[in-house]
Amino acid sequence: MHKNNKELTLSAPLSGPVLTLAKVPDAVFASGAMGDGIAIDPLNDTLHAPCAGVVVHVARTGHAVTLRADNGAELLLHLGLDTVELQGQGFTMLVEEGARVTNGQPLLRYDQDKVAQQCKSLVSLLILTNSQDFQARPITLKSVRVGEPLLHIIRRQVAGAQAEAEPVGEEIVGHIRIAHRGGLHARPAALIRQTAQGFKSKSKLHFGGKSATCDSLIGLMGLAIGEQDDVQVSCQGPDAEAALQALLTALSTALAEEHHAAAPTPMVQRQRVPEAGVLHGVCAAPGLVAGPLFRLSAISLPADAGHNDPAQQRQTLDTALTQVHSEITATLSQARKHKQTDEEAIFAAHLALLEDPALLDAAHHSIDLGTAATHAWSQSIDAQCDVLQQLGSALLAERANDLRDLKQRVLRALLGEAWHYELPPGAIVAAHELTPSDLLQLSQQGVAGLCMAEGGATSHVAILARGKGLPCMVALGASLLDQQQGQAVVLDAEGGRLELMPSVERLAQVEQAQLDRRQRRAEQQAQAHSPAQTVDGLHIEVAANVASSEEAANALANGADGVGLLRTEFLFVDRQTAPDEREQHHAYQAVLDAMGDKSVIIRTIDVGGDKQLDYLPLPAEANPVLGLRGIRLAQARPEILDQQLRALLHVTPLSRCRILLPMVTEVDELLHIRQRLEALCHELGLSQRPELGVMIEVPAAALLAEQLAEHADFLSIGTNDLSQYTLAMDRDHAGLASRVDALHPALLRLIAQTCAGAARHKRWVGVCGALASDPLATPVLIGLGVSELSVSPVQIGEIKDRVRHLDASECRRISQDLLKLSSASAVRHACHQHWPLR
Ligand code: PEP
Ligand code: MG
Repeated sequence: MHKNNKELTLSAPLSGPVLTLAKVPDAVFASGAMGDGIAIDPLNDTLHAPCAGVVVHVARTGHAVTLRADNGAELLLHLGLDTVELQGQGFTMLVEEGARVTNGQPLLRYDQDKVAQQCKSLVSLLILTNSQDFQARPITLKSVRVGEPLLHIIRRQVAGAQAEAEPVGEEIVGHIRIAHRGGLHARPAALIRQTAQGFKSKSKLHFGGKSATCDSLIGLMGLAIGEQDDVQVSCQGPDAEAALQALLTALSTALAEEHHAAAPTPMVQRQRVPEAGVLHGVCAAPGLVAGPLFRLSAISLPADAGHNDPAQQRQTLDTALTQVHSEITATLSQARKHKQTDEEAIFAAHLALLEDPALLDAAHHSIDLGTAATHAWSQSIDAQCDVLQQLGSALLAERANDLRDLKQRVLRALLGEAWHYELPPGAIVAAHELTPSDLLQLSQQGVAGLCMAEGGATSHVAILARGKGLPCMVALGASLLDQQQGQAVVLDAEGGRLELMPSVERLAQVEQAQLDRRQRRAEQQAQAHSPAQTVDGLHIEVAANVASSEEAANALANGADGVGLLRTEFLFVDRQTAPDEREQHHAYQAVLDAMGDKSVIIRTIDVGGDKQLDYLPLPAEANPVLGLRGIRLAQARPEILDQQLRALLHVTPLSRCRILLPMVTEVDELLHIRQRLEALCHELGLSQRPELGVMIEVPAAALLAEQLAEHADFLSIGTNDLSQYTLAMDRDHAGLASRVDALHPALLRLIAQTCAGAARHKRWVGVCGALASDPLATPVLIGLGVSELSVSPVQIGEIKDRVRHLDASECRRISQDLLKLSSASAVRHACHQHWPLR
């Protein structure tokens, strides 16, 4: 969608979970050196154009392509990490340099299995290479499908565009041979650009009759410089000599990871020295567990003489297919309900496959020849798998595995076999290859780990295993299936090792670690429903952050003392029209109903900034995070806030509903909403008033806490935004991610001041930002005077447990000293010393 010359919405080029750059396991991308952007861990095999534009660069090795959008934004689409090493193998480029492409047009196809096995990671990047002119804002950090909105690209405002100054002084020139593996592809080019930008001089590279300024990533990549090519470097300006030396060094020094990768990487197990009694494989989901090995064998079919009644067999097959259809539909709706998007996507694909006429036609054809439904179905799937194999398709492995999944499910239904394995407790399951349905079933039956002779680390099963926290290894080789049933093994997934003959001591060590972990978790869960008090008797309310009534019910089941933050903007985003008062009321009431007799803090809509609504256009902003967002919406669109307040005033009982205002900076904003609430209550004939609280997420609010507390019923600290605004670091900035730490002493001082201000008016203070979920911070927050922590639902037991082991008076004493420290890391270090994590 091309709104104007400045703003552009990019659609997802791949399907899969979205990651911020900071989470990408590659120092150059993660640091933001190549520009702003986002990453996707892909589930599909084709990269699509995220917008219309012109292909300005195609990597020689076919693993990356750069587009220039019509508004001038340059977008590098880079498939996988270190994929330049594959020298084009497994990649098919579908467009040529100079071509014009439309939004969504396929750009390149790759062989998922091959690439996944041979490269460091499939995580793929969308990088805005001219980030100096444009800014990227993620629209979502959830899983996406191709074509769904992913990023907003906004042109940066330049105060009085300055004419580029002509470089002065003599131009000096040098020559160098390129040491970077694979030549000057995206990552080394980014480092060259970064090096050049450290100097005032203008620098250029010259190769093959072409020249490019070192300021332009695209220009540098466009020179198509290969490894060991000789290039000329020219620099002109006041520090030309130093710039030239720095660039020559940067060009002739391969990246650290490249040296490392130079020992041909591919499959992890091939590099290893064989160890007796150990099978090596690839980690698909991390974890260390010990347990009896349990081999799953394939279903065996009864012999078929081939003289069956076709009508009866068709009927039998139809019944089985209907049964499987409804089972998958149930799995799908569960996944939808629990917002397990990966699971939902995978089983939606299964449902589509199950309805595929080719499969059904082939099975019916065999049945008509007298074959039993079981064999007919089995043969139909096998034939389809063979077709995929012969095509050598990129999707081959995954689709075939998904087909085999359906084969098993339908055969089970036909044979009337219950889907339940007789497993020893805590088993480590070994199989040729497990299917997504196997995994769901096995995880319900409490297996400890999974290992497969085949399979890839990016398969659907691997994704599900990671989501369920089940250690899983793939590609262990056929000898896995020769191991003895029931033998004790150790699965060290991160180490890529299956230890077949662990010593008694090793087993005891792994089992003890496992036991301790489990026991701690069980103890915490068992106590999660009791109130949390420190050893000296201070009660701390541990509530939950939720976004829906389903999550609220889950939080209550996990022991939440209430809802500390309902982010209502989730009701407003991802839709075409605004929810009306009735719909809003139902949604808020459902959360109250899900929480039994506990109280619920509902925050008024917090859009603007990074959260934009299609149906609620707000004025374009140079700095949206500093613009009309949060409660400032009352200034721009008062009717929206009025409608939400009305919907909130209709919930019952009103005594359990507390209203929270985001992004307040001064007392008048609070007083204005108080007046509106008063007027609306009057209009509705209500005698009761809901409590009204203020979020402390702007330094101004923390500094004015005393004045705010005079008119508010409670304060709730949003440490996510408070960090951003106090440290002047974008909370989503990839390169600053490790430094946006709310345990910074400056934030602690603001938290202390907030609590002191609130105490003067006998108001309570909670924390609903991410710091509340960090057990290392629990003693500090209690020490500074916080009495409510609103955490993610899964952490309620853990945080309550942490509270119960603390002495509040000691927390107070030590926290005062922490305020005097000079950095967040010093605070973290001190916390580990004073209050070690269990
Ligand atoms: C915060 O800023 O800490 C907060 C809880 O609000 P959000 O993360 O929704 O901005
Ligand atoms: Mg916030």
